[in-house]
Amino acid sequence: MGKPTGFMEYLREVAQEVAPSDRIRNWDEFHLPMPEDNLRTQGARCMDCGTPFCHTGITISGMASGCPINNLIPEWNDLVYRGLWQEALERLHKTNNFPEFTGRVCPAPCEGSCVLGITSPPVTIKNIEYSIAEKGWESGWITPNPPQQRTGKKVAVIGSGPAGLAAAAQLNSAGHWVTVYERPIAPVACSCMASPT
Ligand code: SF4
Repeated sequence: MGKPTGFMEYLREVAQEVAPSDRIRNWDEFHLPMPEDNLRTQGARCMDCGTPFCHTGITISGMASGCPINNLIPEWNDLVYRGLWQEALERLHKTNNFPEFTGRVCPAPCEGSCVLGITSPPVTIKNIEYSIAEKGWESGWITPNPPQQRTGKKVAVIGSGPAGLAAAAQLNSAGHWVTVYERPIAPVACSCMASPT
């Protein structure tokens, strides 16, 4: 656990985003980076719960409670608090092939399950996950990791969403040749493609 009293000392802070009225005018990133010190402070809010519901990944009444892929959230919250970003990335990659996707598009049931949320705003888990992945790319820590041996088997994966690509990555790691198929997307006329006036 990073700072035992962090959850009592610090308020939740979320990253800024580009306003929707501006972001529809281009395809640029709209998540704005948060300073490293602020991220470490947010990591310090994690209580390292004895029963961390944030990563339980169970279904209650048909709805996901906690991280569906069992991300080791308390561990990388603590590593971020201590400034050990590369170690945090290694822990994140143990359960998540593409935190750069989930850190952006996941609805974050982890935060809805965070124990701190019972009495205070929950830990900013999603933003910390996103920031770990971004740090990994910026620092050159994410590199190709081809398997040492190929099995000679070929596998087709239908669908290039996060689940399809994660399945493809796992099958590739096991040594299979993988092809991912996705339907072609017809170009559509869209006002957001036009130059801003
Ligand atoms: S439930 Fe919240 S406070 Fe507890 S370990 Fe998970 S992120 Fe930290």
